[in-house]
Amino acid sequence: MIGSGGTLILATRNRGKTKEFREAFEKIGISVKDLHDVEGIPDIEETGATFADNALLKAKGVADIVGLPVLADDSGLCVDALDGDPGVYSARYAGEGAEDSANNEKLLRELALRDDTVHRSEDSEPKLLSSARFVCSLVLYDPADGTKLEAEGAVEGHILREARGTDGFGYDPLFWISSHGRSMAELSLTEKNESSHRGQALRRLLALIGKQ
Ligand code: IMP
Repeated sequence: MIGSGGTLILATRNRGKTKEFREAFEKIGISVKDLHDVEGIPDIEETGATFADNALLKAKGVADIVGLPVLADDSGLCVDALDGDPGVYSARYAGEGAEDSANNEKLLRELALRDDTVHRSEDSEPKLLSSARFVCSLVLYDPADGTKLEAEGAVEGHILREARGTDGFGYDPLFWISSHGRSMAELSLTEKNESSHRGQALRRLLALIGKQ
C-alpha cells in the first residue's frame, strides 16, 4: 500500500515528525515526502475526539486530494495530574500555531496551578512532576479502494520540573524516561525511534503491511 517508486507521503508539516519517519523508512529503502514537498494541500482541521480519529481525518483528507496512499500521525502528551491534558490539543496547547517553547511553558504553569494533585519526587534527581505518556496513532489510507491500516504506540514517563536536552521536538525536553535515565530530548534520533510512541506505532504498522 506504500506508494509506487518506494515513496511515501506523510500528512504533516511538522519537521520533527518527518525527521523521525525518514530515519525509520530510509532503513527499508522508502523515501518520505511531507506537506512541504506537496503543493496545494490545505490545513486539515483536527476535529476528532481521539488521536485515531484525527489521524484518519488527516490521512484521508490528503489522500483524497493527491490520489495516492498517505500516512498520517496524530500524537500528543497525556499528563496524569492534568487528567490527560493536553492530549489531542498538544500542538495547540498554548493557542493555535503555538511554538513548542510556549506549549512547554504552559505545561509547567498548569502543573504549578495543580500543586495539590501533582506528585513531586523531591528526593530524586532530577526533580520529577506528574507521570505522563506520549501516545501516537498512525493511519495509512489508500484512496484507490478506501482501505486503511491503523496502529498505536505509547511510551510512559514523567514530566521534568526543568527542561533538559536539545534534540527532538515538542515536549521532548520535559519528558523523562527512567529506563534511559535521560529526557527524550537527550536521546539520539535512533534511540528515540527505538523507544518512542511513534517508533512503536510504526513497527506495528509495518508488521500489518507485511501481512498483506
Ligand atoms: P499533531 O501534529 O496534531 O499530531 O500534534 C502533535 C503534537 O504533540 C506536537 O506538536 C507535540 O507538541 C506533541 N508531540 C507528539 N509527539 C511528540 C514527540 O515525539 N515529542 C514531543 N512532543 C510530541
